[in-house]
Amino acid sequence: MGTGGFDMKRAVTLAIRLLFFFLSAVSQPATGELAAIQDDWHYRSFENGVGFSVMLSPDEPGKDTLFFQTSGQNVRISVGNQLIYAQEQQEDRLLTSYGRRWHLVKLPKITQPEQLQVELWGERSFDWGCFSEFSLDTAKVQAGKVFLYDLPYVLSLPGALLLTLIILMYYFQQAAWKQLDISLLGLLLLMSVLSISLSHTVQLFFDWPAWWWLISQVVIYLLPVMGNFVLYQIVEPEFKRKICPVIGIYAILALSAFVLELFGWPGFSYGLYLYYLLIVPCQFYVLGCLLLSARKYQNHYSRYAMGPMLSFCLVGALDGVNQFLPLMPWKTYLVPVCVYFLAAFVVCMLREQLLRERKMQEHANKLEYEIALAIEKSELDTLTGCRNRTAFDRFMQQRHEEKFSMIMLDIDYFKEVNDRLGHDSGDKVLRKFSLLVREKLDKNHCFFRWGGEEFVVYCPDDEEAAVLALAENIRQSVEQAEILPERQITVSIGVAHWHGDADSDIDLFRRMDDALYRAKHEGRNCVMQE
Ligand code: GH3
Ligand code: MG
Ligand code: MG
Repeated sequence: MGTGGFDMKRAVTLAIRLLFFFLSAVSQPATGELAAIQDDWHYRSFENGVGFSVMLSPDEPGKDTLFFQTSGQNVRISVGNQLIYAQEQQEDRLLTSYGRRWHLVKLPKITQPEQLQVELWGERSFDWGCFSEFSLDTAKVQAGKVFLYDLPYVLSLPGALLLTLIILMYYFQQAAWKQLDISLLGLLLLMSVLSISLSHTVQLFFDWPAWWWLISQVVIYLLPVMGNFVLYQIVEPEFKRKICPVIGIYAILALSAFVLELFGWPGFSYGLYLYYLLIVPCQFYVLGCLLLSARKYQNHYSRYAMGPMLSFCLVGALDGVNQFLPLMPWKTYLVPVCVYFLAAFVVCMLREQLLRERKMQEHANKLEYEIALAIEKSELDTLTGCRNRTAFDRFMQQRHEEKFSMIMLDIDYFKEVNDRLGHDSGDKVLRKFSLLVREKLDKNHCFFRWGGEEFVVYCPDDEEAAVLALAENIRQSVEQAEILPERQITVSIGVAHWHGDADSDIDLFRRMDDALYRAKHEGRNCVMQE
């Protein structure tokens, strides 16, 4: 067995084994002279191992395949004087010196009773002679055992993969609860690794029983730590403190088992007794926390986590009992299938995320509306209802017309109105004046209060003559209107036109100002253009 790189011999062996599995699972048992185990077993022990022998008889047709499992031992099998199977671990001692390994051994045809001899030896004395499920049956039945055992693991993997993908898809959304997502992904990863490491099939691809055993043990001890960490996150703060000790207990148990194992004691195996004993009280306690968190605070996450957690624990406990008192027809762990219970929780989690997202969106829309409203308010002149200088500046930055004209209006002798008739009359003039001007404009024109008693009209796309006519129309209307009974109000107007790319806002305003100045100079109440 090679440990690195592509090994042709190994690949061919693997292909043959897979073919063997496939064929034996689908085919009928072959007929012929095959064997049955007869008589009693005869044991003997030698220097660092044990051996046993039994008589085979050619009575039962089809039963030509041995299936059994060992732990950390070398195996050698012979029928009569012929060696038919050898599994020795000189090269890869680190990978194979312990951990469960299954063997399918095809027996040769026999025509008369023969002695089957099995020798097992290894480095760890407490493994000597440890084998299980030793049976002789048809190839189909024996291969079926391997498949049946792997069923929960094979079934769990697509579920774990699908949930992982779904969580990842939602992970990048703004409203995602990232820490919870990560711990759930961690939990799914642990369950997938557990499924792979416990499966029989993995031996066909990576024949490293010691590593798979170590990985499966570490994962088994980490699962409750991770699972309860997920629950820790979703409960209300009041219950976080209560779940902490449970996580601590599992963490200490995991650590102790690991340390014992490091020192050569079977910490993982013995720790499991305590582990299964702890699951029931600890998880009932956590269930209580979830229940109170859901009831007292309407915590949806806690409510939806109760079902999956309870199912996990019940199946976990069943697995535990099954290890010591066989309950199921074959030896396996059902916990990996519980991945599907997690789906219920993930769906709820995503539903909450979508609701949160919608709320955030609504909030953002409201804020946006409020900001727009505030901007509009800040850009409105309260006295005249016109848009103010700030609005005008922003407007000029955003305008995109290539052809437009500007009209600047300045009320004549306005200071005198204020001085003689009072500030209130001045305000009244400003209000009435702006109303009057607005009546003369259409929807394309934009009207701004430039400051004091000065106003600006922006005229897009109009011909110069039309702009002049509009200015004249405004002037006449103001002149004729009875804005104040005590005194006639008139307006002076300056008009300027945009000259395309060569022009600039500063030049335009200078020309408009000049025109207005000339209008004032010419005796006011008149229109001048650049
Ligand atoms: P001219 O014909 O040359 O334009 O003279 P005028 O008096 O209109 O111009 P001037 O710039 O000397 O005076 C503008 C006055 O407008 C000064 C200020 O007190 C007054 N004024 C500015 N804003 C307001 C306002 O909101 N309400 C009132 N009542 N007066 C204002
Ligand atoms: Mg003025
Ligand atoms: Mg004025």
